[in-house]
Amino acid sequence: MAAHRSKACACIMTIVLCATVVACSHRATTSELPAPPPTVGASTSGSAAPAGIDWKVLGSSVQGRPIRSLTLGHGSRKVLLVGGIHGDEREGAYATAQLPAAFAAANLAGGVTLTIIEDVNPDGRAAAQRGNANGVDINRNFPASNFDTHEPSYGGTPLSQPESRVLFDVIDRIDPALVLVFHSWVDKQFVNFDGPALAIAERFSIESGISLTPSSEFSPTPGSLGSYVGRDRRTPVLTIEFLRGSDPKANWERVRSAVLNAIAG
Ligand SMILES: [Zn+2]
Repeated sequence: MAAHRSKACACIMTIVLCATVVACSHRATTSELPAPPPTVGASTSGSAAPAGIDWKVLGSSVQGRPIRSLTLGHGSRKVLLVGGIHGDEREGAYATAQLPAAFAAANLAGGVTLTIIEDVNPDGRAAAQRGNANGVDINRNFPASNFDTHEPSYGGTPLSQPESRVLFDVIDRIDPALVLVFHSWVDKQFVNFDGPALAIAERFSIESGISLTPSSEFSPTPGSLGSYVGRDRRTPVLTIEFLRGSDPKANWERVRSAVLNAIAG
C-alpha cells in the first residue's frame, strides 16, 4: 500500500518498494527458520498472547513456513490486523506480538472480534527480502481491478501465490470492518489509507503523532491489498509505516493507544 504506491523511477522504486537499499540488520531467529509443512488449523504456541489463546496455522508459505493467525474477542465488529507482508519490513513485528495482551487489557473483547495474522510472508522475512520465495510481491498479487499482469514480480495472475491466497481467504471469510497493516519506510514514518478510511486515518494520526500522508503522493499500486480491499471492496484499510530501522518497542508505545482505538471503532 503506501510503500507500494511509490513513484516509478528505478531509484525511488528501490527505496519505496523497500527492495534492497536498506538491508534489514535483523538476523533470522529460530522461529523464522524453515519449518515442516504445518497441518492447517493446528494450534501453535503463541507469543505474548494471553493464557489459553493459541495461534492457529492458516496455511503455509512457498517454502512451507506456517502463516499464523490469532482470533481474539467475540464482538460484532470484525477487525483484521496484518503484522507484516513485506519480508524486509520487520518493524511491526514487536507491535504485533504485544497486541494480544493490549487488546485484553483494553477490555475490547466484548465489542470486537480481532483477527491477527502475524506475518503473511514468513519466507520473505527469513530471507530479509521484500517478496516471497518466488520473488513475488504479495502486496501486488491480490485480485484488484488494477492488477498488473505484465510485471513478473507481481505474480502474473491474481492469487498465484499461497501467501496471498491465505490472506484473501481470511478477508473473504471474516469480511472485516477495518484492516490494519504494518509496514516500514526507509526515511520517514507515516500513516496512509485506502478506501473509506480518511476519518480513521486522521484520528490515528492525531492520537499517535504520526503524520498522515495522502495517497496522492504515491503512484498507483496495482494488485495491492489496499487496491483490492480498500478501493475495490470499499473496506477501510489503514497502513502504518514505521520508520525503517527504528526501535520496535518505541514504535509500539507510540501507536499503542491509536491502534487500540482504531480497533475499537
Ligand atoms: Zn511495505
